[in-house]
Amino acid sequence: MSQSLATVAYLGAAILFILSLGGLSNPETSRRGNVFGMVGMALAVLATVFGPRVSTSGIAWIVVALVIGGGVGLYAAKVVKMTQMPELVALMHSLVGLAACLVGFASYVDTSIVYQGAEKAIHEVEIYVGILIGAVTFSGSLVAFGKLNGKIGGKPLLLPARHWLNLAALLVVMWLGRAFVHADTVGAGMLPLLVMTVIALLFGVHMVMAIGGADMPVVVSMLNSYSGWAAAATGFMLSNDLLIVTGALVGSSGAILSYIMCQAMNRNFISVIAGGFGSGAGAPAAKGAAAEPQGEAVPISAVETAELLRDAKSVVIVPGYGMAVAQAQHTVNEITRTLRDKGVNVRFAIHPVAGRMPGHMNVLLAEAKVPYDIVMEMDEINDDFPDTDVAMVIGANDIVNPAAQDDPTSPIAGMPVLEVWKARHSIVMKRSMASGYAGVDNPLFYKDNNRMLFGDAKKMLDEVLGALKA
Ligand code: NDP
Repeated sequence: MSQSLATVAYLGAAILFILSLGGLSNPETSRRGNVFGMVGMALAVLATVFGPRVSTSGIAWIVVALVIGGGVGLYAAKVVKMTQMPELVALMHSLVGLAACLVGFASYVDTSIVYQGAEKAIHEVEIYVGILIGAVTFSGSLVAFGKLNGKIGGKPLLLPARHWLNLAALLVVMWLGRAFVHADTVGAGMLPLLVMTVIALLFGVHMVMAIGGADMPVVVSMLNSYSGWAAAATGFMLSNDLLIVTGALVGSSGAILSYIMCQAMNRNFISVIAGGFGSGAGAPAAKGAAAEPQGEAVPISAVETAELLRDAKSVVIVPGYGMAVAQAQHTVNEITRTLRDKGVNVRFAIHPVAGRMPGHMNVLLAEAKVPYDIVMEMDEINDDFPDTDVAMVIGANDIVNPAAQDDPTSPIAGMPVLEVWKARHSIVMKRSMASGYAGVDNPLFYKDNNRMLFGDAKKMLDEVLGALKA
């Protein structure tokens, strides 16, 4: 393939990626957005493999790598459960970081192109920054993976003088960078490069370890952004325009998402990086531990729940992580249809950090074919709770915790929440009194107008549906 044809193909791929991002911003166009992304990526891979920079003898190696990588990706996508998606995404981000590091080292030791003067300095800065971002992304994403799948506890690791440690690491990295760029030979530059890589890896671990459970949504999107910048840095090292554009698209959209997540949690980005949120003295025991009772939580049966729903004029359903665990979305849709057929106004309230990844609930509801027009964002529906007969919380906890508003000492104080307790009745469906991801007790469970429907969400909803249809 000639250079000009490859450039046209890259341009086409870049446009398709932009259209893809545009499509993904709305549930109704997201399928189309996905298709644009897939076609763009196929075009980009073909133009690269058959482009002028790959020799014919190299193609065989690339095909072998593509088959292995594609096979692993296909297998992972097939076996992963919807609840494991966030972990898979974190793992993928770590691979982008690792790739940036490996490409950085390979391009440093590659002597086939000789750079001189300013060009040499620029190329070495690209390598240094690329490996730096790549290493932070790699180790940070691995820790995020561990935190999301529960192998590493949600409690933040707060080392004494941790901000000073980070500052010292930054200064050492800058000093090493100077030594690296001034090195005359590859051998002399390798030591500062390796030491910086180790510091960057440790910094990635330290940064994410210091972040409390409640801030994980921001961290997930922040690492997404970093992976984009790591890819862009790789693009600079390889002089690949498409990789630079794609990396910048991922990097900037991830940064915007991080900003949205920060707003959703009423946090500022610097305090998130500084860590510790969701851990404070007020926090009870670790994730999964039973919360201290503060009053009486009154249980309700599935049949009584069905009666309340049948008699209601307006119902708001609040899905959370537990709905994903129980895979209850299809039954939720059936209940919605049954109630709407009876003339009940049913809507969904989606908190921006519900579940374990941005858009988690929207994806599940779309999969179950819940109509988009009754799925509302938090800001659109929060004022409607006082006029709601029944607010049905399905496997959600932190996102409906009134302590975020009422208790300034709560570790999640200030985080906007769905005000389900303002509805005439609220029903919380979960298996026990255990706390949610942030490990914080929830006073909602003990409110007079709240009832607890204990059990697995899918099982309980099946019973509710049966009673509704009876
Ligand atoms: P939570 O984690 O606060 O609560 C989920 C609840 O679901 C648990 O209390 C659990 O209680 C219940 N549950 C679990 N399995 C089942 C089941 N099979 N059937 C019924 N209930 C079940 O989830 P929320 O969605 O309310 O809040 C999201 C939390 O995750 C926030 O703290 C957010 O910061 C964090 N987070 C969000 C990310 C994002 O990008 N959206 C990323 C990372 C973290 P029980 O065990 O008693 O059943």
